[in-house]
This record gives sequence, C-alpha cells and structure tokens, in this order.
Amino acid sequence: MLELLKKTYPHRMSPNSPGLDAVVAILREELPLVVHEYEGGLEHNGWRVPVEWEPQKAEIRKNGKVIYDGMAHPLGVIGYSQSFKGKVSREELQKHLFSTKKWPNDLVYHCDLYYKVGRKNWGFCAPYHWIQQLPKGTYEVELVCRRGKGTMKVADYFIQGESPETIVLNAHSCHAGQANDDVAGMVVAVEVMKRLAKRKSNRYSYRLIVAPEHFGTVFYLARLPEKTRKTFKFGMFLEMLGNDNRIALQESFTGQAEIDLAAHHVLKHSQAEYHSGPFRSIVGNDETVWEAPGYEIPTISLSRFPYPEYHTSRDTAAIIHEDKLEQAAQAVLGIIDCLETNRPMIRKFTGLIALSNPKYDLYISQADPSIRPTIPEEQRRWNRLMDYIPRYFDGKTTVLDIARTHDLPYPQVLEYVRRFEKKGLIEFAGAAPKAARRVPERVAE
Ligand SMILES: [Zn+2]
Repeated sequence: MLELLKKTYPHRMSPNSPGLDAVVAILREELPLVVHEYEGGLEHNGWRVPVEWEPQKAEIRKNGKVIYDGMAHPLGVIGYSQSFKGKVSREELQKHLFSTKKWPNDLVYHCDLYYKVGRKNWGFCAPYHWIQQLPKGTYEVELVCRRGKGTMKVADYFIQGESPETIVLNAHSCHAGQANDDVAGMVVAVEVMKRLAKRKSNRYSYRLIVAPEHFGTVFYLARLPEKTRKTFKFGMFLEMLGNDNRIALQESFTGQAEIDLAAHHVLKHSQAEYHSGPFRSIVGNDETVWEAPGYEIPTISLSRFPYPEYHTSRDTAAIIHEDKLEQAAQAVLGIIDCLETNRPMIRKFTGLIALSNPKYDLYISQADPSIRPTIPEEQRRWNRLMDYIPRYFDGKTTVLDIARTHDLPYPQVLEYVRRFEKKGLIEFAGAAPKAARRVPERVAE
C-alpha cells in the first residue's frame, strides 16, 4: 500500500486535470477499472464540473531574477488560479500569496476556488516566513494556467456478489501532493477490493469509486441508472488512514444502520482506542452526496483525523505507516465480514438443550464457578450468552444482535452459532436479511 501511495500522491491532482488522469492511469494498473468521464461545465443541482486546469508556468521575479517558482511543488499555485502576467507592488503581490502560520516554512493546500462557482482569482501558495521577509519594491509575475477540454474522471471497479445489493467504498482523488488526504484512503480501498476479488464468493457486491471530492460522486450518481443506484445498500468513505493516530468512525446520517452497528462493534473489539461521532461531526466528505435526499445510502466514514500536517505540504509519505494502512484495511474487512455473515437463525428444536452433553459439545467452560470463586468477566459474558442463546434462534435476532447484547467479539459469536448449525439445531435464515425474516413458528419442531 505504501509503495502505491508513494507513486500516486506527488501528482498535481485537481477535479479535472492531467494530474488526476495520471492517478487514474496508476489505479488502472492495479485494478480493471471502468472510467466515467464528465465534461467541464456540466451542471447538476447547481454543481458545475470544473474545466480542465493545469498550471504551466508560475514565476515571481525581482529585478529579472526568479525568486519563486510555483511549479516546484504541486501546491505552489492555488487550485484553479487564473493566469496573470504583470508588474505588482509587494503589497499587491502579498494579497495573492497564501500561507499558514501554523507551518511557517511549508505550503498550504488552497482549494477554495474549486467550490466557488464563478469566483476568479490568481495566486501562489508560499511559506509564511518567506512572504513576511519580501523586501519593498516591484515584482514581476508570470502565471500561466491552461484551461482545456479534458474531462473529469471517476474510477469505478465492481465485484459481482451473490446479491446485487452493493457496498460502496469511496475515496477522493483531487488533492494535489497530499499523501494522507486522500491517497491513503485510496490505497486502503484498492487493497480491500483486491482481497475481496480473491475470495471464492461474496454475499454482497462491492464497488470502489475513486473520484474528485463532491464533484465526482455528484455527477456519478446523477448519471447512474436508477436501477443500479437502488442496489447501493451501504457506503464507506475511507480517508486519512495512514498517519499515527487512532481510528475515527463517523456514523451514517441516522447512526442506526446495520453498517453503523457493525462498525462500532468490530472497532470496539479490534481497535482498542477508536473513537466515534455522529454524521459530519468528525470530517466532511462525500457522505453528504451518498446520503443526499432520494439516495439516502447509509454511509459511514473511517479516518485517522485529526493530524497536524492536514492540508499542508507536510502531508507526505513521511507521515504514513504501512502498519496503520494494514490496520485500517483489517478494520474495513472486519466490518465487511460482519455484514457478509450477519443473519438471523431459526431453531429446529424445542425445550432446553444440555449443552455439555458430548453429543452437542456446546458448553464453553474456562472456569468452573463451583470451585473458582472469581470468574473472569469474559467467561461471565459467555455464561450469560449460553443462558440466553436458545431464545435468540427466533428468525429475527441476528448474530450481530447477540454479539452486541453480550459484548463479545463477533467472529467468536459467529463461530459459536455455527457449531449449533453443525449439530443440526439451527439453520441460518435466507440469503439476504430482508427475505430471511420468516415467522419462526413455521419451522419450529
Ligand atoms: Zn481535504
């Protein structure tokens, strides 16, 4: 993942640019993608696809000598800057130089013009200290930004599952020179898709959408046939997953979708330090698009936000750790595994089963309560689960419901109920949860 990140993030990406095209070409070497293209100027609900944009020359000169070259770093020219050529005073020049005091020797990511339809400006990003020390006098600016007929690209990779119901993974691809935001999310999503594609079969279908933030998903969804859109069951926005910070789970709009419950449970039992917040309370991305009225696709977001290098030239591979990316991929796959296997169960017996009878061998014992005065907390939970579980095979209660109620790791609870299935005591209901909610009486006895 780190190798892929290193060759991807240095490109000069913007929502419609040769830099984005280069990133899509790199992704194409990883996965057999479909690429959707949208012409600059296209409108939907007031959103307008930016025209192709590429800075070509960005010099600030004093006395004929180049004192700043905005082409030296992908953040050196503000996004969608106009071209400008002329002589300006120091004061005038400083109005067109953008920086952050927090990182006085570094560049800030300036994307304001992407989203302000019709607003025009030209400018450079430069270190705060450098801007402050500029001597009085006249400066010569030569800023050439090409606007072309290229298209905005949305990369789309699909894995067909047993069900057309689809879980979407989404990452954005429009931040020039930014490693964690969001090439890190992109490489985690690519890795997860590669691992899912290798599996013999998946219950759900999966779709990876790598697209410029907001613009990409707005136009992708607007152009998508309604029939396809209706198959989208859940979404996960993946972003900023490589830095050294705990995982943040941002809930879907309702916070109550099955994917919210699965994500909370899986993270609680696998990532001791994770934290969470409601929709849009941690970090804002395309979940607003997936969750927009009429679409309403429950979409969670996983990140390691905040981090100090956010939206600066310090967001490089130097702050990304392969083990953090791997941990994030494991978290995504853990949530997916839960959704893949979460079903209600139907009992095929009546009355109380003697779990400890070797015929069943379903009694979990780590300590005998009659001879050990202290019973470990986890054993207490298993004891209680064994008392409750016969009533859960009601065709409604799912494996995740049980794991949550008893605060036990999902994979272990799943393994335990599978042992009931092997003994012929229960069957898992249906192929999909909705179809599965049968009335238990029909199959009892
Ligand atoms: Zn960002």
